[in-house]
Amino acid sequence: MYLSIWFGIMLAAQSGCTTQKAAKPEKLALEEARKALPLEEKENPLVKRLNNPSSMPVVPPAGARLSYSSVKIEQKTLAMTFDDGPHPSLTPKLLDLLKERNIKCTFFLIGQQVKMYPDIVRRIIAEGHEIGNHTWTHCSLTSRSDDQIRTELKKSEDAVFEVAGVRPHLVRPPYGAINTRIKNLMFTEFGYSTIMWSVDPQDWRRPGVAAVTSRLVNGAHPGAIMLSHDIHPPTITAMPAMFDQLLAKGYQFVTVSQLLNMEKASMPVGVIVRPAEPVGDKDPKPLPEKKPSA
Ligand SMILES: [Zn+2]
Repeated sequence: MYLSIWFGIMLAAQSGCTTQKAAKPEKLALEEARKALPLEEKENPLVKRLNNPSSMPVVPPAGARLSYSSVKIEQKTLAMTFDDGPHPSLTPKLLDLLKERNIKCTFFLIGQQVKMYPDIVRRIIAEGHEIGNHTWTHCSLTSRSDDQIRTELKKSEDAVFEVAGVRPHLVRPPYGAINTRIKNLMFTEFGYSTIMWSVDPQDWRRPGVAAVTSRLVNGAHPGAIMLSHDIHPPTITAMPAMFDQLLAKGYQFVTVSQLLNMEKASMPVGVIVRPAEPVGDKDPKPLPEKKPSA
């Protein structure tokens, strides 16, 4: 019996030790990582990151869903998103339009473009817009291995962090090519919610300026996530009329993260929205064709 009491004391002591030790190494590791960096690297983004833990990778808040194509809210609020940039002349032009109207949008950037146009990426962040990950090479994720997917996402995320000091926590799969298994990988390993859309003007087919404007205006609905590409000149030409018509209808434009938080804020306390879909390897589903409700 004495032996079992002794064992009990030893176990209790050990578990107490483990708890104390768990907190300490984390702090020490951060300290050591700081010391390991050469002094002249003070401007290195990694140093800034270590000095500013709030810029550590963002884990989605409790309640974040695996993927969204819109959110359920009553207010006339929506998120406009632009893919495939930054473009050297069109993205700055778009940023001017947004600034004039004090509108905030979300840009799903291609990593390689981020590397080429870092000043535009910094301007996007400085002017209050959000950046999401749109992979490094704009490849179809469903035709890549898990390791290739990780590389595509990580290289792109790191590129944004290096030039702008922020890490995206949203992803949009190029071509909308996605399946549940990949959504799970991106959510669990990168903390990304997958952002699809509920309104698609198909601007990449070059339907003309008037068509892009009217498709977005007519498709708009509370909680919509609207898709466009800031790499096509007619899309940019279509934007002032689209923004002004929707503003006149009483719509507010917010970033995707702000929109997602509006849905969570409208949920009763204690409700946790988790992916209902089982983890599985399914073929990509056809793109959502949700009819706008207003
Ligand atoms: Zn794209």
